Amino acid sequence: PARPVYTGELPKGLQTISNIIAISSCKGGVGKSTIAVNLAYTLADMGARVGIFDADVYGPSLPTMVSPENRLLEMNPEKRTIIPTEYLGVKLVSFGFAGQGRAIMRGPMVSGVINQLLTTTEWGELDYLVIDMPPGTGDIQLTLCQVVPLTAAVIVTTPQKLAFIDVAKGVRMFSKLKVPCVAVVENMCHFDADGKRYYPFGRGSGSQVVQQFGIPHLFDLPIRPTLSASGDSGMPEVVADPQGEVAKTFQNIGVCV
Ligand code: ADP
Repeated sequence: PARPVYTGELPKGLQTISNIIAISSCKGGVGKSTIAVNLAYTLADMGARVGIFDADVYGPSLPTMVSPENRLLEMNPEKRTIIPTEYLGVKLVSFGFAGQGRAIMRGPMVSGVINQLLTTTEWGELDYLVIDMPPGTGDIQLTLCQVVPLTAAVIVTTPQKLAFIDVAKGVRMFSKLKVPCVAVVENMCHFDADGKRYYPFGRGSGSQVVQQFGIPHLFDLPIRPTLSASGDSGMPEVVADPQGEVAKTFQNIGVCV
């Protein structure tokens, strides 16, 4: 999709990035980080140059989900920039790689720290920067969206939480910023056992969302023990099983961003 109207001055650190994709959710624990990381590694597997920015200050999950050799971000003292760490060719920045001293911060401080970390990083030439947004649609999210010219947003939700009000909040925030919501991912939507498919959280609300909000794509991801285990082991599922069902879903998501 075309880059939306962006009136701010483009921060220098972001000038060499072609597409910035926000992965957003209205609540925590719905699988946003899992989807951000697997999407990033899928795009890399498709041949793109990719970075991940984990914008969650309070609960950064990137350090658990990937296993870079160097687990601390380096500084370039002359240029006063941050050098991302890297795992399997994907550049990574997270508060979890920033070392000790994470303090209790109020909202505006958090925004300042996130924006600084994002814009002073030497990302280099990237086709995609995937931003794992902090959950919710409050001030931290809004300022982050105003600092970076987002190309597209993907909203992650789970079937039981697929309340219109919640998804609508996300869609409204992005539409205010003229960022197209290209897809909704309905995570943990079903599981298969004894040759049968179960929908523990109900079904059918996804297609309503697509109709009501005019979002072009809806993707389902099943509950998969391997998806959770791979997240905990530091090896994304799409890397561990590049031919699997999950990897195919991520390839489809990758095509629409
Ligand atoms: P969020 O970023 O929204 O807080 P996470 O991606 O950290 O959510 O996921 C929360 C937990 O649920 C993690 O332990 C993760 O491995 C697990 N999880 C996410 N999606 C799935 C899935 N489809 N099947 C099984 N476990 C999942």
